[in-house]
Amino acid sequence: MQDLIKKLNELESKASPLEPTNQEREGLNQTVHQFLSHYIDELEENDSYKSGHINEQELDLQHPHSLEDLLIKLNHYFQYGITASSGGHLGYIPGGGIYTAGLGDMIAAVTNEYAGMEFGSPGAVAIERELINWMKSIFYFPKSAVGNLTSGGSIANLIAFTSARDRHNIKGNDIVRSVVYLTEQVHHCVLKAMRIIGLTDVVVRQVPMDEKYRMNTEALEKLIASDKSMGLHPFIVIASAGTTDTGAVDPLNDIASVAKQNNLWFHVDAAYGGFFILTEEKESLFNGIVHADSLVIDPHKGLFLPYGIGAVLIKHADDVLQSHHYVANYMEGAYDGAMNYSPADLSPELTKHFRGLRMWLSLKLHGIDPFKACLSEKLLLTHYFLEKIQKMGFKTGPEPDLSVGYFFYPSNKVFGWEENEFNKVLHQLMLEDGRVFFSTTYLHDKYVIRIAVLSFRTHKTTIDKGLKMIAECLDKTVKYFEHTHHDSNV
Ligand SMILES: *Cc1c(COP(=O)(O)O)cnc(C)c1O
Repeated sequence: MQDLIKKLNELESKASPLEPTNQEREGLNQTVHQFLSHYIDELEENDSYKSGHINEQELDLQHPHSLEDLLIKLNHYFQYGITASSGGHLGYIPGGGIYTAGLGDMIAAVTNEYAGMEFGSPGAVAIERELINWMKSIFYFPKSAVGNLTSGGSIANLIAFTSARDRHNIKGNDIVRSVVYLTEQVHHCVLKAMRIIGLTDVVVRQVPMDEKYRMNTEALEKLIASDKSMGLHPFIVIASAGTTDTGAVDPLNDIASVAKQNNLWFHVDAAYGGFFILTEEKESLFNGIVHADSLVIDPHKGLFLPYGIGAVLIKHADDVLQSHHYVANYMEGAYDGAMNYSPADLSPELTKHFRGLRMWLSLKLHGIDPFKACLSEKLLLTHYFLEKIQKMGFKTGPEPDLSVGYFFYPSNKVFGWEENEFNKVLHQLMLEDGRVFFSTTYLHDKYVIRIAVLSFRTHKTTIDKGLKMIAECLDKTVKYFEHTHHDSNV
């Protein structure tokens, strides 16, 4: 017994660094605080992109390191790739990272409230429900609808499609007869989710689009009718409210009526665009979203929160419970006193990060108005950029629905140089410059440069910086082509 007690004391003392003292905590907090302050203050001046690679080293865990040393290392690690927190991130779909949400994460991590089950933390679960209820209200979903805070849009879509699959009871031989309708512009996670949930062999119909890359509803109707006449089983139509490539919002109201007439599950992927419903300018684009059976939105995009928070709303609870609700023996008691479904009943996750706190804290601290203003600012900045870039001789797509647009230099008309080739060199030079980051895509074999404005740190000064960078890179590209293509330049 004496030995045992001695051993316990020894172990307790050895493990004690895991609980820093009050004074140690002060020191740690101060060091992190300084690091972050410096980081944020430098963001505006630093490049938004730098190509490079970090070779991973063997993880040396024998000796403790100082926090200062580790932060220096992180600084080195963070300098390459896209600076996601920078306002100059105008590629793909930019993310957020508002500071107060970071504080929410800190509180969530240190208190480690168990956010999966009401029994474990009625408070954390209530907060998640408050947020879900708020999102239900902004999309006019009924009170009886349910929802879940996921890690992002991909898992949110996965939960929605699983629910659709089970509502339509698609299994075994039904799979090859079942038809999914979407446009070629849906996010790739849609098809990935279909594969994960065992629907690899469904029939996928790409519905034609109009000139703004929006689903053509008449074409959808015709496809459904023809599939039905062939004895197939149309079961889901997937609309986008803000596509990744061009930010297009499909005609939700029209799609909703086609879905209803044909008994299809109506899914809306609004991961990127959803929160623009909060702006007066764009609210009407979302008409019809109320009819969705399931809806995906990403607060880590449109609410400027740090990565790791998406959301799914499901209109009828039964549809999602079938696959996601589970009662195990060792969870005896976990349902005692539960008034409602817990997050774990509506998601593949059991134990989950209390990710709702970052959203709740920042929404409660700031109120909704700054978020709305920031979204409206992004819309206007996109408009401003596209007008300016046209004046520089670039071609742009049609006026975008939201805050994603694209452009290319018409080098063929101006100089007789092949356009995809020219714009690729131009974009390469823009990457090498790196002050502001833009990404690219192909639209029907046409190589275009995209602008996606969604960072809360993107302002007019950022856009002006980007325009200046593009003007300089355009000059360099022209010089490069003059040098290498002098014979074709007649
Ligand atoms: C970003 C995005 C997704 C994927 O969401 P993640 O949060 O990256 O998993 C899905 N659909 C659309 C339209 C998106 O913009």
